[in-house]
Amino acid sequence: TTQEAEKYDALEKIGQGSFGIIRKVRRISDGALLVRKEISYQRMNQQERNQLYAEITILADLHHENIVRYYAREHVKNSQDMYIYMEYCGSGDLGMVIRKHKTNGRPIPEDYVWRVLAQLVCALFRCHHGKSPPGVGQVQDEALPSVDKLRTKLGARMILHRDLKPENVFLSDNDTVKLGDFGLSKDLHGQKFTQTYVGTPFYMSPEICTGETYTSSSDIWALGCLLHELCTLSPPFNGKSHPELAQKILKGGAPRVDSRYYSSDLQNTIDNCLQVNPTRRPDTKALLEIQHVRIQRRELN
Ligand code: ADP
Ligand code: MG
Repeated sequence: TTQEAEKYDALEKIGQGSFGIIRKVRRISDGALLVRKEISYQRMNQQERNQLYAEITILADLHHENIVRYYAREHVKNSQDMYIYMEYCGSGDLGMVIRKHKTNGRPIPEDYVWRVLAQLVCALFRCHHGKSPPGVGQVQDEALPSVDKLRTKLGARMILHRDLKPENVFLSDNDTVKLGDFGLSKDLHGQKFTQTYVGTPFYMSPEICTGETYTSSSDIWALGCLLHELCTLSPPFNGKSHPELAQKILKGGAPRVDSRYYSSDLQNTIDNCLQVNPTRRPDTKALLEIQHVRIQRRELN
């Protein structure tokens, strides 16, 4: 049988991931550019390998226009690597957009922020509800069961992103937003999230600070942080140390965004997502109903 890797030409390395490299590849059959995440599993035990494999299987089923598409995987026995083939997003990520605006001193236009939100809400709806959101004009199913009921009744899997931040929101040509880098094996090694996290967890939610479980509302918190950062070009909560950051997060009350550039509708949306009590945050269904989100979704079609 042909090895998957033989169907691609390996091109340059484009990124350094936390557990391997990201390489651009060309699919030989049609010349399409894809990326390959090369994950070394050499230092993982059997249980960790199984978990990695299970997580990749989940991602393989996650088809949505605003989610980085996973195409194929391959187990490379001699190098002890797991290769994951994914959609290539050639226009950078939101981290770059924020840095660019910081450098040129110009705020990100409000329209752009709503456009990003509309697409991320659709991506997160797909993850949290196990299906794509209804079209804009479409009647919402009134009896739409809660996420938890869906999960238990239909066995639909709720997928949590767990690491939503500007660097993990990719852009493809024509500025389509693609949610990527799901928490693949990030809590392997049996440690707590806060102990394995690489970098500063600026978007860590209050409930994670206090050691409670991560839920879909924790993704919504991170979404609120991301919206806030798009408006202010800095993370809403910051601290010189981990405990100092956690303390600020638990206290809540991010600074207000500049009302000269951003409407009270946007400020309110951010405030709702940044409620310290997770049960008070909107879910993706509620976010879809925001007028600006509906308008942007209509324009994106
Ligand atoms: P990590 O777990 O290290 O954060 P990422 O999946 O975020 O791994 O990838 C690291 C870097 O590789 C990204 O910041 C980006 O520059 C590049 N990259 C990853 N996936 C893609 C992709 N699908 N298209 C283009 N670049 C990508
Ligand atoms: Mg990343």
